[in-house]
Amino acid sequence: MTVEREITNLEALISDLSPEDRALAGRIFDVSTTTGRLEPPEAMHAWIEKSFGSVDQVTAQRIVKVTNRITLEGTLFNELRASRPLDTGVSLDLDREIAATEGDPFCHPRDGTPADVFGRVEGEHATTASNVAKYDGFHGVIVFDDHNPLHLTPEKVAGYVSVGLEWGQKVLEADPEARYPFLMWNCLWRAGGSIIHGHAQVTATRDSHYPKVERLRRNASAYKREYGSDYFGDLARVHHALDLSIPLEDVQAFASLSPLKEKELLVIGDDPEDASLSRAVGALLQGYVRDLGVRAFNVAFYMPPLGPTQEDWSGFPTVVYIVDRGDPANRTSDIGAMELYAASVVASDPFAVARALAGSPHG
Ligand SMILES: [Zn+2]
Repeated sequence: MTVEREITNLEALISDLSPEDRALAGRIFDVSTTTGRLEPPEAMHAWIEKSFGSVDQVTAQRIVKVTNRITLEGTLFNELRASRPLDTGVSLDLDREIAATEGDPFCHPRDGTPADVFGRVEGEHATTASNVAKYDGFHGVIVFDDHNPLHLTPEKVAGYVSVGLEWGQKVLEADPEARYPFLMWNCLWRAGGSIIHGHAQVTATRDSHYPKVERLRRNASAYKREYGSDYFGDLARVHHALDLSIPLEDVQAFASLSPLKEKELLVIGDDPEDASLSRAVGALLQGYVRDLGVRAFNVAFYMPPLGPTQEDWSGFPTVVYIVDRGDPANRTSDIGAMELYAASVVASDPFAVARALAGSPHG
């Protein structure tokens, strides 16, 4: 009997792997399954059926807890929440709301935004500005030529990233100590974006990388010491063995087994300058918007430093995280105390996410 490829069957799916892949999966992930039960009064049955399909589905809910033993990232998947269909509807109201802000300062960045001390980086699809209220000593904005942040293509995204990386080089010339770059994209309000006009952000920091990036470097380095193996390669292999990978040229991409929030994807490439990596990110974001109905998302590039450092970054790839932040029309925040202080609670099934994105053309 074949086991259905669903997150709630993860334990069985892992037992079906080859002995080598099964051992690797067990090395990286702890997986446990439990059932949560409740007794709804008769008066609630109609509402439950309307909201969730059947009362039985609600009275016994299967919950899978996945913990990455190496990084201690962890996620609780609830079968009931995961069984809700993925909403791929397009909101015309959102399109109108985005169009209504056309003519904002980012539509004319040369006189609407400040420049950095070293000037601006101008590319084919974007121009940089200096962020007015800075996160760090160097904090730039990659202002997209497109006002609408959802009109993205792999080419445009590659252009945005390329401008951001060149900004990092300009920073390094201005301050050789600011060698730790970070590139991020908060698309629309729910993802932390305060300005609608398409933009990403770049920072550069000194002394050591941002703590979450440094923690991943330490985790991967401890893994190599203990197992003599590359953490990122092994992580990708486990996801691939479980059919969670999304086929793309020259990069590893997969729907994460321990997502921070909904539909999280990881993309692993060698060099941030490699255009196939940023094009892959663009193709996945295009699939996110078109095939999965995502509107608000975060993207983060974990990159090794641009100059020599005391700590060992050898073998550290470029890791890109992409995560859905939910429907812009929903007032409830997707992140609460559970996510901030305990573990992530996620409804989307990574197997469904991988299937949806693997089926769409990339390029
Ligand atoms: Zn604009």
